[in-house]
Amino acid sequence: MSAPDPNCIFCQIVAGAIPSEQAYADDQVIVIQDLNPQAPVHLLVIPRRHVSGAADLDATDAALVVHMVAAANAVAAARGLTASGYRLVINQGTHGGQTVSHLHMHLLGGRQMHWPPG
Ligand code: 5GP
Ligand code: ZN
Repeated sequence: MSAPDPNCIFCQIVAGAIPSEQAYADDQVIVIQDLNPQAPVHLLVIPRRHVSGAADLDATDAALVVHMVAAANAVAAARGLTASGYRLVINQGTHGGQTVSHLHMHLLGGRQMHWPPG
């Protein structure tokens, strides 16, 4: 956990300084359309508070993590994905494929996905 970073693209999106297509927002998170969608539904659940990534979370962040999952579930339900299913992903670090160092959870759905990922 750390203070808002003026150079962080997701902090700027949270602040409204960079535009985004918002699907949901509350006091803790925003959910936005991914700029480069990898599935028919590809949204990002982004905490308003700057956290660099999943590796910076600990037990004191339990409420935030559950809140992120609940927000993803609510948006997935609103998009009609509950029955067909969906994938929630947090990429961590270089090998995890993380490219933006502000915690975010991908919500992917609308097509069959496979495991393991590439
Ligand atoms: P990561 O690779 O860190 O897990 O995911 C970062 C995601 O953020 C990528 O899927 C990328 O397409 C998305 N992204 C990067 N910059 C922007 C942006 O400015 N706006 C939006 N809406 N998504 C972005
Ligand atoms: Zn940030």
